[in-house]
Amino acid sequence: MEHKLSIYNSLTRKKELFEPLNPPFVGLYVCGPTVYSNSHLGHARPAITFDILFRYLKYLGYKVRYVRNITDVGHLEDEVAGEGEDRIGKKARLEQIEPMEVVQHYMNSFRENMAHLNVLPPSIEPMASGHIIDQQLMIEKIIKNGFAYEKNGSVYFDVVKYNKKYQYGKLSGRVLDELMENTRELESSNEKNNSYDFALWKKASQSHIMRWPSKWSDGFPGWHLECSAMSVKYLGEKFDIHGGGMDLMFPHHECEIAQNVAACGFEAVRYWVHNNMITINGQKMARSLGNFITLNELFTGAHKLLTQAFSPMTIRFFILQAHYRGTLDFSNEALQAAEKGLKRLLKAYKQLDGIKTSDSSSYNININIDKCFEALNDDLNTPIALAQLFDLVKFIGLLNEQRETITDKDLQELKQFMKVFIEDILGLKSEEVAAHQDNNVDQLVQMIIDMRLEARKNKDFATSDLLRNKLADLGILLNDTKEGTTWEKK
Ligand code: ZN
Repeated sequence: MEHKLSIYNSLTRKKELFEPLNPPFVGLYVCGPTVYSNSHLGHARPAITFDILFRYLKYLGYKVRYVRNITDVGHLEDEVAGEGEDRIGKKARLEQIEPMEVVQHYMNSFRENMAHLNVLPPSIEPMASGHIIDQQLMIEKIIKNGFAYEKNGSVYFDVVKYNKKYQYGKLSGRVLDELMENTRELESSNEKNNSYDFALWKKASQSHIMRWPSKWSDGFPGWHLECSAMSVKYLGEKFDIHGGGMDLMFPHHECEIAQNVAACGFEAVRYWVHNNMITINGQKMARSLGNFITLNELFTGAHKLLTQAFSPMTIRFFILQAHYRGTLDFSNEALQAAEKGLKRLLKAYKQLDGIKTSDSSSYNININIDKCFEALNDDLNTPIALAQLFDLVKFIGLLNEQRETITDKDLQELKQFMKVFIEDILGLKSEEVAAHQDNNVDQLVQMIIDMRLEARKNKDFATSDLLRNKLADLGILLNDTKEGTTWEKK
């Protein structure tokens, strides 16, 4: 069948047929994490949503350049007002380490979490701190075009002036007059002409650790600027798709549009795609509400709201069960249901290897196969695709019990389809292999710990130390406590 992907464009507020600017190439930019703390459930949703888009575009034969940034500078505590301490700088100050140590640590952890979720790495993962000059050049362009002004070493975007020529707020549907009403009383910085003007460059205070020289001051770039500068650098002044969470629509993406237009005279992005948020038991996820669950906590079950650990593939399947533009409510029950559903799907997938064939097929698999693709073509509707897939799961179950029949040709087709759809497009895989290996390692390490204990009992400290050191060479550290010996991987 011929595939025509339609995608909901937040800018036009309608589903549009996706037609890349320069086929077969597709440029995709997605806002990545600010790496100052562990990744949480909220990070999993955009990562998986755009992973599906990335995988599906590749399946359709496009050559996709997927750029997802790492924010390592400029994201301040109050992101709407653009004020407060730099999130990474603050963490570094509190822990008395280098900001880049904070960045490296949480970036490694983010990548590890993403690999567990089977999220493919992007083609380019640029960091804001590595693109200071690109950002400065963009500021110069915006100043030259008359849409930014300098005050005391900082540079601000002139929203009023921009709005006179272009429309500020077109993505989020906010109107400047309303913004002026709402922000007047919040005005705290007398440096800006208006409180909703936003910083392109900020002069660093004495205590600010992360700073770079510029013609305006020793300072740092504004958070919104990095995405404009880096997307244009790697995807061109006009590119196909920009994605991110709905919470980024205002002010972050709105500011991105304004910066691009102010610098180049036209918009960069053709399709704006936004995923909805995850709620927890009906509530917004927030540190202050105590319902903030990191991915590591989900994978290990170590959180008071969790009744058990949930595997990365369960989380992935759970996220795919909802359409990316709908809200998704997390609960133990919902994840347990996802765990069961995934198990059923993967079991059927495995059963395909043992199916006996007949002279005729009692069921037309092509209807479901076509509908799976139709669902994805319709704005990546993964829940409908999964429902169609489960019709096939049911059929495979009946084939397994020899209550239905299938020809060899159809079986080969079904196998091929299931492999492509489950593994390549949906990115789901069996976790049994990984779990089995871990289990073996557990048993082996426990065996060595027992041998070492035996040696110590016999006062054979040479053997005891040898075992400890050999394990350490393999990255396994032993910890002797009153309760016994525990171990961890370095
Ligand atoms: Zn961004």
